[in-house]
Amino acid sequence: MLTFYNELHAQHRGKHEMFRGELVPCFEKPERADSVLAELGRRGLGRIVTPHGVPLMSLERIHTPRYLHFLRSAWNEWVALDPANAKKDAFPSVWPVRTLRDDIEPENFSARMGLYSMDSGTPLTAGTWTAAKTGADCAVNAAHALRLGERGAFVLSRPPGHHAGADFFGGYCFLNNAALAAQHMLDDGARKVAIIDIDYHHGNGTQSIFYHRDDVLFISIHADPRFEYPFYLGHADERGEGAGHGYNLNLPLPAGSSTQAWMAALETACIRIGSFAPDALVVSLGVDTFAGDPLSRFKLQSADYLKIGERLAWLGKPTAFIFEGGYAVKELGVNVVNVLEGYETAL
Ligand SMILES: [Zn+2]
Repeated sequence: MLTFYNELHAQHRGKHEMFRGELVPCFEKPERADSVLAELGRRGLGRIVTPHGVPLMSLERIHTPRYLHFLRSAWNEWVALDPANAKKDAFPSVWPVRTLRDDIEPENFSARMGLYSMDSGTPLTAGTWTAAKTGADCAVNAAHALRLGERGAFVLSRPPGHHAGADFFGGYCFLNNAALAAQHMLDDGARKVAIIDIDYHHGNGTQSIFYHRDDVLFISIHADPRFEYPFYLGHADERGEGAGHGYNLNLPLPAGSSTQAWMAALETACIRIGSFAPDALVVSLGVDTFAGDPLSRFKLQSADYLKIGERLAWLGKPTAFIFEGGYAVKELGVNVVNVLEGYETAL
């Protein structure tokens, strides 16, 4: 397993986030990736490589030029608003919901942030663009490696990506690494790619990016949005639209779901992937399904992640694993690397 590691991930380091009515220290922090890197080293799961930088055009395959321009210049504009802002994280102040207009950009920066974001839990910092762009480099590099014959690649990067849409950030995510990996495999000649999102939270960004397409099957197993983030997408009746109808499968599960219920959903997902017959697979690998995760209401145990990797390997597809959520930092490395090792040993 080739790991593409984002050495610049720690440049994205938020101070705090809004969580249940309080400003709390960020759950999404650099120690998360450090924990996974340390465990990869301990188990010697394969080469760890630094990605080549890709041109901005490669990111425009998924994200709008307007949004990319916003993200690149966001920090400077935040500081230009008030020099004292240099010591604070940037947060949006107003969102253009329903009856408000979204066709004219406000000049005020923190108001404009609302146009490109979906929540108050995602701080933007001085190093956010650098970290997110290098993560996107990792995803595009992983896609190319698979098309050149690698059987498995792992993108070890943060911030994560699956909540980010074509033109918005949120849920700790800025650039959608899973979507970039899938799109670049198609651009390199794959006919069809399946994405399976096993993070505890629904991958609303990835779903929205491919919702009208039949060349990318998107499947997500997640906590029911009636009680869990992102709340406004991820229901079972979202099947895709137009050409994409039938190519979006949501498998929401109730709070307190056991390993047995979760593995049954994985089996349903794998059967659908089998009938889709993709040339490659992308796994949005979040392990916040873990019983000990501070954000989770599922009950998976560390040993279960070996079985998940094994089941994914049985699909027999070149696979890109993209690091997403997981906030129990101490067990995070073991849980993520268990998926990768389960995959490798079953090949
Ligand atoms: Zn998550």
